[in-house]
Amino acid sequence: MINNGNAVAIIGGGPGGVGCAIALQNKSRQMGRKIRVRLYEAKSQDGIPRYNQCVGVLSPPIEDILRALGVEFPHHLLQRTIEGYVLHSGKQSIVLNDESEPSLAVRRISFDHYMLDQARKHGIEVVESRVTGLEIYDDSVMLYSESDNIRASVVVGAFGLDDGSALMFSRETPYKQPKFLNSIVTKWHPKTNFIHKFDNNIHAFLPPTKKIEFGAVTPKENHFTINVAGEKVDATVMDEFLAYPPLVKLFPQSFLQERKTLSYFKGKFPISIAKGMFGDRYITVGDAAGLVRPFKGKGINSALLSGMYAASVILQNGVSNTSFKEYLKLNNEIIADLPYGKAIRIFANFIANANLLDYVLRLSRENASLQRALFNSVSAHKPYRTIVRETLSWENILAGVKSFFE
Ligand SMILES: Cc1cc2nc3c(=O)[nH]c(=O)nc-3n(C[C@H](O)[C@H](O)[C@H](O)COP(=O)(O)OP(=O)(O)OC[C@H]3O[C@@H](n4cnc5c(N)ncnc54)[C@H](O)[C@@H]3O)c2cc1C
Repeated sequence: MINNGNAVAIIGGGPGGVGCAIALQNKSRQMGRKIRVRLYEAKSQDGIPRYNQCVGVLSPPIEDILRALGVEFPHHLLQRTIEGYVLHSGKQSIVLNDESEPSLAVRRISFDHYMLDQARKHGIEVVESRVTGLEIYDDSVMLYSESDNIRASVVVGAFGLDDGSALMFSRETPYKQPKFLNSIVTKWHPKTNFIHKFDNNIHAFLPPTKKIEFGAVTPKENHFTINVAGEKVDATVMDEFLAYPPLVKLFPQSFLQERKTLSYFKGKFPISIAKGMFGDRYITVGDAAGLVRPFKGKGINSALLSGMYAASVILQNGVSNTSFKEYLKLNNEIIADLPYGKAIRIFANFIANANLLDYVLRLSRENASLQRALFNSVSAHKPYRTIVRETLSWENILAGVKSFFE
């Protein structure tokens, strides 16, 4: 149990770590306990340009999640309002409009800075330093960083898919990094005002190649973020994606030359939950735990929520492996959805690689429930099991079979 004077150490200042830190501080105050929360973030805010793999699209209910933390939504960081999605196959495309609230695109690095400032305002000790070592004892946890050390009652692993931190954790605990898809991200700044005339949609692609699971083009304020993901995605695959005709068709001629000069960045998407996600005196959150919606989408929301759930179990249940079992229940919406997400991923890959996507898009033009299913899959607005239940009706199956043979 965490009592007055005890410390919680958090590794990582992304949404998972900050969500956990602020929730710990708020909740412990409500419970009348005085605890220390120290958060370590390896990237410092020293003005040197940093990159973050994330596209920075904040989806509903982000404003509600931030409100629950007592944090105002950073409207001043807004770069673009995203109204919907366009899904492209080789020959067709379909606009999938967002019937609910729009998503909001920000620069992810600015969002993280804002959240870290909010953490400081909530009384959290933010240390801009990399955690380099971890020891877990029966009665405490010892954490070493590049600048100092701390003895805490529990450690929260909010280090995303950082390989070094995962190795550090797995040497000391049964933790194993989740399985992941590789991703390459680039930014294209058009020299003309083309970007201002571009629609406010995320353009999604499922090219018919096993190398790519999905790709997307997201318009921001003065540039496009282009990303591609797959198990074996590398720079060559990104080169190929930037020459993919349905993508090239979106842009003016100048893109063909300029794409050769773009800088690439590497990232990862978790596609399974981490083994040994928690244990005595440690718990992982966000991407480190693999607690994101399978396939894609809303990683920032999921990380914030899992961080908040971790705070709740630490304060209410305790810090042992047994007390953390409650954490699985709190994250059940994501965990129970994993098999459905996996099935949809395999199915989507099959459709794309068998060149059936043109046909599916054609079918969905006349079928509102299929169109809704495509929207919810691309946006991750609904759990995959709901999408499967809403779409798998005999009427839809028969309509699909009939239209295939027409
Ligand atoms: C290409 C791509 C695009 C994406 N786009 C979106 C999007 O538009 N919207 C969305 O909601 N999600 C998106 N995601 C997912 C989203 O980025 C993640 O799900 C989310 O950032 C997870 O948050 P986190 O706090 O768990 O981890 P992270 O955001 O990865 O934060 C981990 C932090 O820990 C720090 N750290 C690591 N090791 C140490 C250490 N040893 N010591 C100190 N600090 C450490 C890192 O510096 C980092 O800041 C995208 C992902 C990818 C790969």
